[in-house]
Amino acid sequence: MADIFVEVAIPVPLRQLFTYAVPDTLHTNDIVLGERVVVPFGPRKVVGVITKTSNDCDLEKIKPILSRVTDKYHFDANLLKLLHTAANYYHHPIGDVMQQALPVPLRNINQPTIEPEKEYLASSEIPPTESERSKLAKKAPKQSELYDVVEQSHGITWPELRTLGYSKAQLNSLLKKQWLIEQARPDKVFTWHEASLNESNKLSLNAEQAVVVSAINQTTEFACHLLEGVTGSGKTEVYLQTIEQVLSNNKQVLILVPEIGLTPQTLSRFEKRFSVPIYLHHSALNNSEKLATWLAAQNGSAAIIIGTRSAIFTPLKKLGLIVIDEEHDSSLKQQDSFRYHGRDIAILRAKQLNIPVILGTATPSLESLQNALNGKYHHHQLTKRAGNSTLAPITLIDIAQQQVDQGFSGTLTHEIKQTIKRGEQVLIFINRRGFAQALTCKECHWIAMCERCHKPFTLHKNDQQLVCHHCGNQHSTPHQCHDCGSVRLEGIGLGTEQVEEKLAELFEDANIIRIDRDSTRKKGELTRMLEAINNNEYNVLVGTQMLAKGHHFPNVTLVAVLGADGALFSHDFRAPEHLAQLLVQVSGRAGRASKPGKVLVQTNFPQHALLQDLVNNGYHHFAKFALVERQQALLPPFTFQALIRAEANYPSYPQKFLADLTQFATSDCMMAGPMPAPMEKRAGKYRFHLMIQSKGRTALHQLLQLMIVNIPSLESSKKVRWSIDIDPQDL
Ligand code: ADP
Ligand code: ZN
Ligand code: ZN
Repeated sequence: MADIFVEVAIPVPLRQLFTYAVPDTLHTNDIVLGERVVVPFGPRKVVGVITKTSNDCDLEKIKPILSRVTDKYHFDANLLKLLHTAANYYHHPIGDVMQQALPVPLRNINQPTIEPEKEYLASSEIPPTESERSKLAKKAPKQSELYDVVEQSHGITWPELRTLGYSKAQLNSLLKKQWLIEQARPDKVFTWHEASLNESNKLSLNAEQAVVVSAINQTTEFACHLLEGVTGSGKTEVYLQTIEQVLSNNKQVLILVPEIGLTPQTLSRFEKRFSVPIYLHHSALNNSEKLATWLAAQNGSAAIIIGTRSAIFTPLKKLGLIVIDEEHDSSLKQQDSFRYHGRDIAILRAKQLNIPVILGTATPSLESLQNALNGKYHHHQLTKRAGNSTLAPITLIDIAQQQVDQGFSGTLTHEIKQTIKRGEQVLIFINRRGFAQALTCKECHWIAMCERCHKPFTLHKNDQQLVCHHCGNQHSTPHQCHDCGSVRLEGIGLGTEQVEEKLAELFEDANIIRIDRDSTRKKGELTRMLEAINNNEYNVLVGTQMLAKGHHFPNVTLVAVLGADGALFSHDFRAPEHLAQLLVQVSGRAGRASKPGKVLVQTNFPQHALLQDLVNNGYHHFAKFALVERQQALLPPFTFQALIRAEANYPSYPQKFLADLTQFATSDCMMAGPMPAPMEKRAGKYRFHLMIQSKGRTALHQLLQLMIVNIPSLESSKKVRWSIDIDPQDL
C-alpha cells in the first residue's frame, strides 16, 4: 500500500501547514483529523496536529512522521474548523493557534499520565447528627459551610471547592470525621434527572426577566442575544433559567466570565442551583486540572464549563449554549501573541454549531450594542434592579472649586464620615496601585524614569521600591535626586497606598482595607479579605479594578471614585466608553441590599459632556450618543481596523519595516503611520505601529494577506519582531 500524506499544524511562527508522509507501518487506515503526531522539524521533534489527509502529493522529498499519539484526545471536526477560521480571521500562524488550544500536557511528546478525577460527597452511611451539625456551625463555621456545599452538590471536585474559597485543611478535617467521602468521579456522559436541579434555590422571575427567559428559550438554534441589564437586575438568574432548559435537554453549557477567582459568589450560585458535574478553567488551576476539564468536556461527562477567555476553545461533545458574562470586559481580548477576542470566537462557534449565545452586561460594548440596534442581535433589556434595592445615583464633586487634601475633597470627607457613623461601608475606587504615580525632585523637577520604558516609575512606599508597571523593572527608592542631588523628593499622582494612608489619618478609628494586586498576592488572601468585608470587619475599602467587578457587598452604601479625569482626554478613542463602563460597574457596588446607595465622582471637569450624559441619562443613552460620534468619525464599529506592530532594539528598524509596508496601500483601505506606539519604548524595545482601517472587512483582510505574502521578501522584516492585531482594543 502506498503512503498517505497529511498536512500538519506545527507550533512554529509560520503561517502555513507542513506536509508529511505517513508510512503504512503506522496503520494509516484509522487516521483521524485532529489527532496529534510527532514529526521532525529541522533538528527537532515536535508535536503537531493533523488537519488534512490525501493520497498523493506532488512535493519531492517528503519526510515521514515519526509516530502517532493514539490516545482518545484529539480535536473534533467542529473544533478544528473553528481553529482554522480563527487563524484565518486573526492572520495568526495556524500551528500556534492549535498549540494554544491544546492543554499543556498534550503538547508534549511524552504522553501524560491521567489520574481519574476525584470528587467529594456527603457520607450517607455515617451522616452527622443534628447536634453535631450545630456544634460544628458554632465552632468551625467555614467547615460547616463546606459540608453544606458538598452535601448539596452530589459530588464536587477539589478545584471547585478551592475556587469557592475553601482550604485543603477544612476538607481534610471533614474527611477525617468521615462526614465526607472521596470517590472517583464517574466519567459517563452527563444526563439530566430530577435531582440535577435544586428547585428550592430557584427564584420566581419578575416580569422583565420572564419575558427575556421565554424569548431566549424559544429556539435551540443559532441566535445572538444581547442581555443589557442594569447592575443587580438579575441577569444571573436569567442565565440560570436558560441554562436549566439546555441542561434538561442533555446539552452542555459553556460560560465565560472575566475572572472567577475574583467572584466566587458567581460560581457558588451555579453550584447551589445545579447538582451536575461542573468543571472550571481559569488561571488558578494547574495544568492537570485544566486537562481534566478538557477531557470531561470532550467526553461529555461535564455538564457545565465555567471559565475565563481561553475556555472558549474547550472541546465539547454536545454544546447547547454559550453565555458570556460581562461581554464588554477587556479581559476577553487576548493582548499578546494570538490576539483573539473570546466574545467574537464564541459567536463564531455558536454559529457553526447552530446554538444560541447570550452576551450579558450592564454596559454593552459599543460593538455589541450597534449589532443589537441594527437587528443583528436580539436585544433584551432589564431596566430595574431585582429584589428591593434601587440603583444608586451618581453625583459629581467639582474639585476645581474646592480644596483637595491628598485626593480628598471636604465634601467627600464629610460623606465618608457620615457613612461610617451609620455603621455602613465605604468603597473608594482609584485605578492605580502603589503610593504615587511618580517620584520627582522638588528642586529641579527630575522624574525617576524606567530606563527600559522611558516612563515614570511608580513609587511603592511600603516596600521602599520604585516599580515600573510596564515591564516590572524595580529599584530601591533613592534618597537623593539623580540630577541635582537634592533630598527633596516627593511622590506625585495618587495611588491606592497613599489613599489608604490618608484615610487612616483622616479617620483614626476606622478599619481600612486595601485591595489591589499587591495586597492580594498571597494565595487565598483575596477570599479572606472579601469574607472579612462581608463580615463587616472593615469600614472603608480602598481598591483598584479588582473591587469594581461583580462583587456583592451588601453593606456598602457609599462609593467614591478618585482620579478618573485622565480618561476624559485620552489618545485612545475607546477611553470614554471604558470610563463610562467602569463608572457604572463601580457604582453597581453601592446599595445592593436594602439600604440605598450613593456614588460620588471627584472631577475637575464636571461640565464634561460625557460625565453629564452619563450622570443625567445613564449608560444606554451615553452609549447611543457615543455611537453617533463614532459613526461621524468613521471609527469602529462603523469601520474595521487592524494594527501592525513592530519592535526592535533601534527605533529606525520598525519604522523602516512599517514604511515598507505602506507600498501595498490600496484605495479602499486607509493607513496611518508608521507612528510610535503610545509606549514608544518598553522593556528596552522601540515600538511602532501602522494602523489600517477600512469600511469593509473583506478589503482589509485582502490587504493584510497581500502584506503577509510579501513580508518575507522585505529586507527590513528580518530586523524586527512584528505582529498583526485584528480589531485592536488598545494601542
Ligand atoms: P446581575 O447579574 O444583573 O448583576 P443578580 O443576578 O446578581 O444581578 O441579581 C441581583 C440580586 O437580585 C441577587 O441578590 C438576586 O438573588 C436577586 N434577584 C434576581 N432575580 C430575582 C427575582 N426574580 N426575585 C427576587 N430576587 C431576585
Ligand atoms: Zn533634582
Ligand atoms: Zn519599564
